[in-house]
Amino acid sequence: MRVGVDIGGTKVIAGLASEAGRVIRHAQIPTEGQNGYPAVRDRIVRLVADVLSGTGVKKSSIKQVGLACAGQIDQARKRVLFSPNLNWRNKPLGRDIEAATGLPVSLENDVNAATYGEWRFGFKKEGLNVVGIFLGTGIGGGLILNGRLFRGSRDVGGELGHITLNPHGYQCRCGNRGCFEAYCGGSYVVGRVRERLEQGYRGRLWEIVGGDPVGLHAGHVEEGYYLGDELCSEAWGEVIEYLGVGLQSVANLLNPDLILLGGGVIQGTKKLVHEARLVMKQRAMPASTKGLRVERTRLHQNAMILGAAFVSSD
Ligand SMILES: [Zn+2]
Repeated sequence: MRVGVDIGGTKVIAGLASEAGRVIRHAQIPTEGQNGYPAVRDRIVRLVADVLSGTGVKKSSIKQVGLACAGQIDQARKRVLFSPNLNWRNKPLGRDIEAATGLPVSLENDVNAATYGEWRFGFKKEGLNVVGIFLGTGIGGGLILNGRLFRGSRDVGGELGHITLNPHGYQCRCGNRGCFEAYCGGSYVVGRVRERLEQGYRGRLWEIVGGDPVGLHAGHVEEGYYLGDELCSEAWGEVIEYLGVGLQSVANLLNPDLILLGGGVIQGTKKLVHEARLVMKQRAMPASTKGLRVERTRLHQNAMILGAAFVSSD
């Protein structure tokens, strides 16, 4: 048995998984990151105990506790180098959890873990070269190359969200301009559209959101696009085009078997994957997309838990 832990900005979720990759039990707690690293660390220790309690599973039969966390990870030292959403710098999370639980612990970037989990427990038969692109608030990327997670020489590779698609484009939170994330990340797109609503834009979209710009999400913008709303045609048309261009660049660079699209923006919209695939096909060199599949992720929450629990054992 293994335990996978997804350390998110608002909640921490642990899953107890069988060696076959079935998540038998979940437990979760609010992260309460504002209380600082030691408090979160102690909550994770308690959560690991919680997910095991009452199951009859002995501690000695736990092969691995895998932690997944957003940000930059030092694999060898099991440290979180930088996690912007938790405001952590250089925290010895892996060793701390190991010392407190007495169990072997591994630490992985959350999107790497999710990509690995989706591939290993859902798409392994599709091939050995797989790219995961997760469109949520921002964009995260994970690379499986030749059947192994590729982390780069300092473990911080795979930052697909920050490849530049337009050097003069929108400002990105990383400091650069025109990043993939600044075009297709949910919070950026919704932020731009909401601003126009707040400035007085009225159209079909105003009816779709029921006159409440606060509740606006990517699904509304997509809906407006197909209903001919002018603002949404512009804003969502841009998302489709830039996501397609992002996929095309990935296809030409890596010639993968599969590109997996996941995250809140993908789950909350209906035709984005289809539309972006069309743009990719039109623009990529034909040989680069021959046999290439672009699919939605399937495991969602469990992908990160399973990925974290199993990735280091390869
Ligand atoms: Zn960026």
